[in-house]
Amino acid sequence: MAFDGKIVLITGGAGGIGRAIGHAFARAGATVVLAGRDVTALADAAKEIGPGTADHVVADVTDAASTARMVETVTGRHGGLHVAVNNAGILGPVGPVADLGAAAWGDVLDVNLTGVFLSMKHEIAHMRAHGGGTIVNVSSNIGAHGRRPGMAAYAASKAGVSVLTRTAALDHIADGVRINAVSPGASDTPMSLLPGESETGRAVRMRGAIPAGRVANTSEVASTVLWLASDASAHVVGHDLVIDGGSTA
Ligand code: NAP
Repeated sequence: MAFDGKIVLITGGAGGIGRAIGHAFARAGATVVLAGRDVTALADAAKEIGPGTADHVVADVTDAASTARMVETVTGRHGGLHVAVNNAGILGPVGPVADLGAAAWGDVLDVNLTGVFLSMKHEIAHMRAHGGGTIVNVSSNIGAHGRRPGMAAYAASKAGVSVLTRTAALDHIADGVRINAVSPGASDTPMSLLPGESETGRAVRMRGAIPAGRVANTSEVASTVLWLASDASAHVVGHDLVIDGGSTA
């Protein structure tokens, strides 16, 4: 899968999965632009991926004006936008619905679902006016595919991402914008650690919890994203590809 000359925007690009996706696209020849709120983390991640290959833009995906500026900045600096990966996300508090605060519910929905909507809105507008493109949204196997107690806001937000992906894909495939999602299961980033848990502790817990016996490597999520963004998957539209070692099989 070659992405030479392609401009790739990745929201949440300084985080665990976003950074791995950035490395993978850069290795495949793309120029990557990492977006997020923390300028220091973004600059570090871009430096790690490679000067001249990776750029960064500060953006808050919950803010309509910020997401509009994010896309304008990418296209203004790099002359286009061919691939967008909407990966920014938060877990939010874990606990039963009756104890879930309305503000926490709102925060999770704002980042995980509204953030994908706002990002896609501006990405699609650019792509359909400039010859098309591909978008991959990062959902989760908790949501449309599986449920877990204590994670109502996260599950509802990610189920929303899976459905939004399908609807947006139908709306815009005729515009030349091809949209899909990935739904990872527990992956090797801090998000899948229980409070106070070490990576070794998680590995022991996951041996029994996941049929494949382990969490996903971020590179395994990244390679699936690259496939969905590439011409190798040209006839795949509105799909939500689960990467969870069989957890929801
Ligand atoms: P992570 O390391 O915490 O990365 C999340 C990224 O999202 C951070 O870089 C963060 O950057 C960014 N972000 C959060 N709020 C934002 C906002 N309002 N605007 C812009 N960026 C924002 O998490 P991860 O494990 O890599 O997860 C990446 C994606 O995969 C998430 O959507 C997550 O739900 C999904 N996922 C993860 C797992 C897992 O086990 N790790 C499993 C299934 C799905 P700033 O804070 O600097 O903005």
